[in-house]
Amino acid sequence: MNEPVLLLNANYAPLNVCTTRRALGLLMGGKAEMLLNGRGFIRTIRQKIPRPSVVRLDYMVKRPRPHVRLTKREVFRRDDYRCQYCGVRAHRLTLDHVIPRHQGGEYSWDNLVTACEECNLKKGGRNLSTAHMKLLRVPEEPIASALYLYGTHLPENQDWHSFLEGW
Ligand SMILES: [Zn+2]
Repeated sequence: MNEPVLLLNANYAPLNVCTTRRALGLLMGGKAEMLLNGRGFIRTIRQKIPRPSVVRLDYMVKRPRPHVRLTKREVFRRDDYRCQYCGVRAHRLTLDHVIPRHQGGEYSWDNLVTACEECNLKKGGRNLSTAHMKLLRVPEEPIASALYLYGTHLPENQDWHSFLEGW
Protein backbone atom coordinates (compact mmCIF):
# COMPACT_ATOMS: atom_id res chain seq x y z
CA MET A 1 0.00 0.00 0.00
CA ASN A 2 3.02 2.27 0.06
CA GLU A 3 3.79 2.18 -3.66
CA PRO A 4 4.22 5.66 -5.14
CA VAL A 5 1.22 7.14 -6.92
CA LEU A 6 1.47 10.30 -8.99
CA LEU A 7 -1.04 12.87 -7.78
CA LEU A 8 -2.17 15.51 -10.28
CA ASN A 9 -3.96 18.77 -9.64
CA ALA A 10 -7.39 19.36 -11.21
CA ASN A 11 -5.61 21.00 -14.17
CA TYR A 12 -3.35 17.96 -14.58
CA ALA A 13 -0.28 19.70 -13.15
CA PRO A 14 1.75 17.17 -11.14
CA LEU A 15 1.34 17.98 -7.45
CA ASN A 16 3.02 15.30 -5.51
CA VAL A 17 3.85 11.66 -5.19
CA CYS A 18 1.72 9.96 -2.56
CA THR A 19 1.20 6.41 -1.38
CA THR A 20 -1.36 3.96 -2.73
CA ARG A 21 -3.10 4.20 0.63
CA ARG A 22 -3.54 7.98 0.33
CA ALA A 23 -4.63 7.71 -3.31
CA LEU A 24 -7.26 5.13 -2.42
CA GLY A 25 -8.51 7.39 0.34
CA LEU A 26 -8.94 10.22 -2.14
CA LEU A 27 -10.66 7.96 -4.67
CA MET A 28 -13.04 6.44 -2.13
CA GLY A 29 -13.81 9.86 -0.71
CA GLY A 30 -14.83 11.05 -4.17
CA LYS A 31 -12.05 13.65 -4.18
CA ALA A 32 -10.07 12.28 -7.08
CA GLU A 33 -10.39 10.20 -10.21
CA MET A 34 -8.14 7.43 -11.34
CA LEU A 35 -6.32 8.18 -14.58
CA LEU A 36 -4.13 5.14 -14.75
CA ASN A 37 -4.03 1.81 -13.02
CA GLY A 38 -2.24 -1.04 -14.71
CA ARG A 39 -0.90 -2.38 -11.46
CA GLY A 40 -3.42 -5.10 -10.95
CA PHE A 41 -6.02 -5.13 -8.24
CA ILE A 42 -6.38 -4.81 -4.53
CA ARG A 43 -8.76 -7.38 -3.11
CA THR A 44 -10.90 -6.63 -0.13
CA ILE A 45 -13.52 -8.93 1.33
CA ARG A 46 -16.27 -7.26 -0.65
CA GLN A 47 -14.64 -6.00 -3.81
CA LYS A 48 -11.75 -5.85 -6.21
CA ILE A 49 -10.32 -2.35 -6.63
CA PRO A 50 -7.90 -1.42 -9.42
CA ARG A 51 -4.55 -0.35 -8.02
CA PRO A 52 -3.92 3.29 -9.00
CA SER A 53 -0.76 4.60 -10.61
CA VAL A 54 -1.89 8.13 -11.49
CA VAL A 55 -4.81 9.97 -9.89
CA ARG A 56 -6.18 13.46 -10.45
CA LEU A 57 -7.81 15.66 -7.82
CA ASP A 58 -11.32 16.94 -8.54
CA TYR A 59 -10.47 20.33 -7.08
CA MET A 60 -7.63 22.80 -7.57
CA VAL A 61 -4.91 23.05 -4.96
CA LYS A 62 -3.08 26.37 -4.98
CA ARG A 63 0.60 26.07 -4.45
CA PRO A 64 3.65 28.26 -4.92
CA ARG A 65 6.04 27.22 -7.66
CA PRO A 66 8.07 24.30 -6.36
CA HIS A 67 11.81 24.46 -5.83
CA VAL A 68 14.34 21.67 -5.88
CA ARG A 69 15.56 21.16 -2.33
CA LEU A 70 19.24 21.98 -2.00
CA THR A 71 21.00 18.80 -0.92
CA LYS A 72 24.30 17.18 -1.83
CA ARG A 73 22.46 14.49 -3.78
CA GLU A 74 20.50 17.08 -5.78
CA VAL A 75 23.68 19.00 -6.62
CA PHE A 76 25.20 15.76 -7.96
CA ARG A 77 22.06 15.09 -9.96
CA ARG A 78 21.98 18.64 -11.39
CA ASP A 79 25.59 18.20 -12.49
CA ASP A 80 24.79 14.81 -14.06
CA TYR A 81 27.19 13.17 -11.58
CA ARG A 82 30.14 14.79 -13.36
CA CYS A 83 33.01 16.64 -11.80
CA GLN A 84 32.45 20.25 -12.85
CA TYR A 85 36.17 20.82 -13.22
CA CYS A 86 37.46 17.87 -15.25
CA GLY A 87 34.17 16.44 -16.52
CA VAL A 88 34.83 12.95 -15.19
CA ARG A 89 31.88 10.89 -14.03
CA ALA A 90 33.68 9.75 -10.93
CA HIS A 91 32.49 7.02 -8.64
CA ARG A 92 33.28 9.05 -5.55
CA LEU A 93 32.03 12.59 -5.74
CA THR A 94 32.39 15.48 -3.38
CA LEU A 95 30.64 18.78 -2.93
CA ASP A 96 32.84 21.79 -3.60
CA HIS A 97 32.23 25.38 -2.51
CA VAL A 98 33.32 27.40 -5.59
CA ILE A 99 34.08 30.37 -3.37
CA PRO A 100 35.42 28.68 -0.23
CA ARG A 101 33.48 29.05 3.00
CA HIS A 102 36.32 30.88 4.72
CA GLN A 103 36.11 33.49 1.95
CA GLY A 104 32.41 33.96 2.54
CA GLY A 105 31.20 31.41 0.00
CA GLU A 106 27.66 30.32 0.71
CA TYR A 107 25.90 26.98 0.77
CA SER A 108 23.78 27.83 -2.25
CA TRP A 109 22.91 26.50 -5.69
CA ASP A 110 25.19 29.01 -7.37
CA ASN A 111 28.18 28.30 -5.15
CA LEU A 112 28.09 24.51 -4.94
CA VAL A 113 29.33 22.12 -7.59
CA THR A 114 30.13 18.45 -7.95
CA ALA A 115 33.84 17.70 -7.87
CA CYS A 116 35.83 14.49 -8.04
CA GLU A 117 38.15 13.86 -5.12
CA GLU A 118 41.23 14.73 -7.16
CA CYS A 119 39.95 18.10 -8.33
CA ASN A 120 38.66 18.93 -4.87
CA LEU A 121 42.06 18.14 -3.42
CA LYS A 122 43.81 20.12 -6.14
CA LYS A 123 41.58 23.14 -5.55
CA GLY A 124 42.15 22.81 -1.83
CA GLY A 125 40.08 25.62 -0.33
CA ARG A 126 41.16 28.22 -2.86
CA ASN A 127 39.00 30.19 -5.25
CA LEU A 128 39.01 29.60 -8.99
CA SER A 129 41.59 32.20 -9.96
CA THR A 130 44.17 31.28 -7.32
CA ALA A 131 43.69 27.60 -8.05
CA HIS A 132 43.84 28.27 -11.82
CA MET A 133 40.77 26.14 -12.33
CA LYS A 134 37.68 26.59 -14.48
CA LEU A 135 34.13 25.39 -14.20
CA LEU A 136 32.47 23.52 -17.07
CA ARG A 137 29.36 25.65 -16.60
CA VAL A 138 27.97 28.29 -14.31
CA PRO A 139 26.15 26.62 -11.42
CA GLU A 140 22.57 27.70 -10.79
CA GLU A 141 19.37 26.48 -9.24
CA PRO A 142 17.81 23.80 -11.45
CA ILE A 143 14.38 24.55 -12.87
CA ALA A 144 11.89 22.52 -10.90
CA SER A 145 10.08 20.98 -13.84
CA ALA A 146 7.86 18.00 -13.12
CA LEU A 147 10.24 15.76 -15.03
CA TYR A 148 13.11 16.99 -12.91
CA LEU A 149 11.23 16.76 -9.61
CA TYR A 150 9.71 13.33 -10.15
CA GLY A 151 12.17 11.93 -12.68
CA THR A 152 13.72 9.67 -10.07
CA HIS A 153 10.48 7.64 -10.08
CA LEU A 154 10.49 7.14 -13.84
CA PRO A 155 12.60 3.98 -14.07
CA GLU A 156 9.97 2.10 -12.05
CA ASN A 157 7.01 4.08 -13.44
CA GLN A 158 7.57 4.59 -17.15
CA ASP A 159 3.87 5.23 -17.65
CA TRP A 160 4.13 8.51 -15.72
CA HIS A 161 6.19 10.10 -18.45
CA SER A 162 3.37 11.60 -20.49
CA PHE A 163 1.84 13.06 -17.31
CA LEU A 164 5.09 14.75 -16.30
CA GLU A 165 6.18 16.07 -19.67
CA GLY A 166 5.75 19.79 -20.25
CA TRP A 167 5.10 20.83 -16.63
ZN1 LIG B 1 37.60 16.33 -11.46
